[in-house]
Amino acid sequence: MATDSHDPITDAVLELIRAQDPETAELIALERDRQERTIELIASENHVSPAVMHAMGSCLTNKYAEGYPGKRYYGGCEFHDRVEDLARERAKALFGCSFANVQPHSGAQANTAAFMAMMAPGDTFASLVLSDGGHLSHGMKINFSGVFYKPVHYPLVKDPASPAFETIDYDAVRRVCLEHRPKMLLCGYSAYPRVIDFARFRAIADEVGAVLMADIAHIAGLVASGVHPSPFPHAHVVTTTTHKTLRGPRGGLILCDDEEIAKKIDRALFPGAQGGPLMHIIAAKAVAFGEALRPEFKAYCERVVANARTLAGALTERGFRITSGGTDNHLMLVDLGARDAELTGADAEAWLEAAGIITNKNGIPNDPRPPRVTSGLRLGAPATTSRGFGKAEMVRIASWINDVLGSRGDGKTIEKVRGEVQDLCARFPMPGAAATVGA
Ligand SMILES: *Cc1c(COP(=O)(O)O)cnc(C)c1O
Repeated sequence: MATDSHDPITDAVLELIRAQDPETAELIALERDRQERTIELIASENHVSPAVMHAMGSCLTNKYAEGYPGKRYYGGCEFHDRVEDLARERAKALFGCSFANVQPHSGAQANTAAFMAMMAPGDTFASLVLSDGGHLSHGMKINFSGVFYKPVHYPLVKDPASPAFETIDYDAVRRVCLEHRPKMLLCGYSAYPRVIDFARFRAIADEVGAVLMADIAHIAGLVASGVHPSPFPHAHVVTTTTHKTLRGPRGGLILCDDEEIAKKIDRALFPGAQGGPLMHIIAAKAVAFGEALRPEFKAYCERVVANARTLAGALTERGFRITSGGTDNHLMLVDLGARDAELTGADAEAWLEAAGIITNKNGIPNDPRPPRVTSGLRLGAPATTSRGFGKAEMVRIASWINDVLGSRGDGKTIEKVRGEVQDLCARFPMPGAAATVGA
C-alpha cells in the first residue's frame, strides 16, 4: 500500500479507514500517492492546507441546518449558526462587500441561484460561449442555463493583426447587448488569461438596463488578494467557487452589496436550488477564508501570477503559441498547432500524463477540432505554486513539456521525464504537508 505522506493526520485518518474498509483506504492512498508524484497544472485545481482538509472531515457533516443562521428548520444549530456566520463575515471582509451566501455546494449551484434570483425562466442573458473560454453554466444548450434561459454570446477579438486578438471584444459586447437587450450580462470565465475590465462591463450593462453578474470562479483568490481587480463595486452579483485559486474546499459562494438582491439570492439558493447546507464544507470555507485574509496569501497569489508568466514565456521560447500572446493571471491556453500542426490537445494531455505532468486539453478560440480532441492545452500555476515551485521549476516544466510533445510521445522520452518529474516532486512535498502552504 502506498504510504508516503508528510501529513501525520492524513496518515492517521487513512489507518483508521483502513482498519474498517481497506478497499476504500487503498484507493485514497493511491490517489494521494498520484498527487504527490505528479505535477498538477490543471488551472482549476489546487492543494489545500491540512486545516482546510481536516475541517471537511469533521462532525459538522452529521447535522441538518436547512435555512440560515438564526432561521433554521432544525434544532441544535447553535454552533452551526456560529460557523456559518464566521464564514460569511470572513467572506465579506475578504471581498469587501456587505452580503455573502456561503451555502452553494459548487460554483454551478451558485450560478443556478444567481440566475434564479436575477431572471425569470425564458429571459435572455449575454455571456462568452464555452468554446471561447466560458463555462458550461453560462448557457451551454443542455445545462440548466441554456435549457431554462436564453443565452446570446459576445465574441473575442477575431483579427490576428489586432493587439487585442483573442481578448474580450468590448465593442462587440455592447453591440450584442444593444441588439438583444439581455436581462443580465455575465462576465468571468474558465479559460481566459487576461484581466477583466469590470467597469467597462458595468457601463454596458447600465446602458442597456441589464444586471451585471461576475463569475470569478477561477480568479477568486487573485481578486481576494488584490492581484486582479475586484468586480466590486461594478457587479450586482458575484459568484465563485472556493476550491480554485482561493484554495478552499470544493464549493461555491455568492456575494453582493445590495440588501434586496441578497434577499433574492438567499431565497433562490435555499429553498430554491438546494436543501440542507454542507456544514463541514462551510467550516472548511471559514478556515480557507481565514488563510486568504493573511498577508502570506497575497504573496502566494503574486507568485502564482509570476509562475504562470514564467511558464508562458518559457513555452513561447520553445515555439508554442500562447493565445492572446501571454497571461495576466494564473492560467494560459497553449495553441499546440504553432509548434506542430498535427499535435492535438488529446494526444498532448495523454503523453504528458504518462510523464507525470497533469493538464487538460482545451479548445482554443476558433478551434477547428471538436472538444474531445482540441488543438490546445490549458495550463495553470495555482497547484504548483502551493507546492512551493518557483521560476526555475516552471522553466523545467516548460522544457519537459517541450521534450514530451517534441518527441510526439516517444516512450523513452516519457520514461526519462517521468523520473525527473518524480525527483522534483520529492523535493516539494504536497501540502498536506503544511510546510509549503502559505510559506
Ligand atoms: C469552475 C467554474 C464553475 C463551476 O464550478 P463547479 O464547482 O465545478 O460547479 C463556474 N463558473 C466558472 C467560470 C468556472 O470556471
